[in-house]
Amino acid sequence: MILLQDYNLNELTDFLTANYNVKPFVAKQIFGWLNKSVDFDGMTNVSKQLREQLKQDCVAVSAKIVRTLTSQIDGTQKFLFELYDGNVIEGVLMKYKYGNTLCVSSQVGCRMGCKFCASTLGGLVRNLSAGEILGQVLSVNALGDGQNRYVTNIVLMGSGEPLDNFDNVIKFLHLVTSEQGINISSRNISLSTCGVVPKMRELAEMDFSLNLTLSLHNAFDDQRKQIMPITNAYSVEEAVDACKYYFQKTGRRVIVEYTLIDGQNDSYSHALKLASLLRGVSVHVNIIALNPVKETGLKGTSENTLKKFLQYLTKLGISATRRRTMGQDIEGACGQLRRRYLEEQQ
Ligand code: SAH
Repeated sequence: MILLQDYNLNELTDFLTANYNVKPFVAKQIFGWLNKSVDFDGMTNVSKQLREQLKQDCVAVSAKIVRTLTSQIDGTQKFLFELYDGNVIEGVLMKYKYGNTLCVSSQVGCRMGCKFCASTLGGLVRNLSAGEILGQVLSVNALGDGQNRYVTNIVLMGSGEPLDNFDNVIKFLHLVTSEQGINISSRNISLSTCGVVPKMRELAEMDFSLNLTLSLHNAFDDQRKQIMPITNAYSVEEAVDACKYYFQKTGRRVIVEYTLIDGQNDSYSHALKLASLLRGVSVHVNIIALNPVKETGLKGTSENTLKKFLQYLTKLGISATRRRTMGQDIEGACGQLRRRYLEEQQ
């Protein structure tokens, strides 16, 4: 299937002129509509005949919002997007004083197998194309008033492992940061990985001022292997070395994500190990309590233990803060809405 949101302006122009004999200015108009996630029927300045032809061969809106949940607590919104083949993915919009951050998915499902994560329970269904990742941003951005940018920041932290879909993610980054597109600065974009080390290094060598996050969750190799199988391929030390390399190449400090799971990674010895691993490395640690997913049987650390863990780290000289949890009442953790939706369909 041809997804028009996969194309940048030049590619779209080439495609439309070659196949439909369309003039460049019409291609530009269509590109404008695509950037607003407007479907063919809404492209009012494009001839009906051309729209009908395109409708038969291509898809305009690659991620359609089919369900929206809004948190009564903090206004966080969760979206379920439908793709052209009926697959669904989810995204979360978090509202802050400085702007709105959209968390997007990079794959349908995930094959990384992290034990605490809902996204990976059914394995990987397929990769998203660049346009399907972009489509999530464009569809949510279109909910704004059109004057100001609605989505100001993006985190690749939804379902999927972005570095397991490297080429499409890179293409997405080019599209979303393009001046002809919605032109979001890469400084406002974060990519989170479970630690696909060679790709972290490759990313470091690219010319993106992208923020990188490593999901660590345990500093002991043997224990991390139990909850994050990627550790069998790349050790904790190799992942941290890749963070050092990222800083060296880009000047950007990597964020280390540490999700506290009750009784598994939240003791003093875990804090000590984490501190010794990260001492002298330019990183910042983000602490969060596990969002319980019913299928996993794992529980989040209590408020008390979380505070203590944070204190330990701070006393041990590690730069760490607690990440605010948002959208608690709408199942903020990745993959949960999609799973519920799929259950309902059965
Ligand atoms: N695959 C990437 C990005 C997607 S997961 C990665 O691993 O980083 C985004 C973040 O949410 C990761 O830090 C992941 O470990 C965390 N996460 C997954 N399930 C969670 C849950 N139930 N509670 C809290 N954090 C969770």
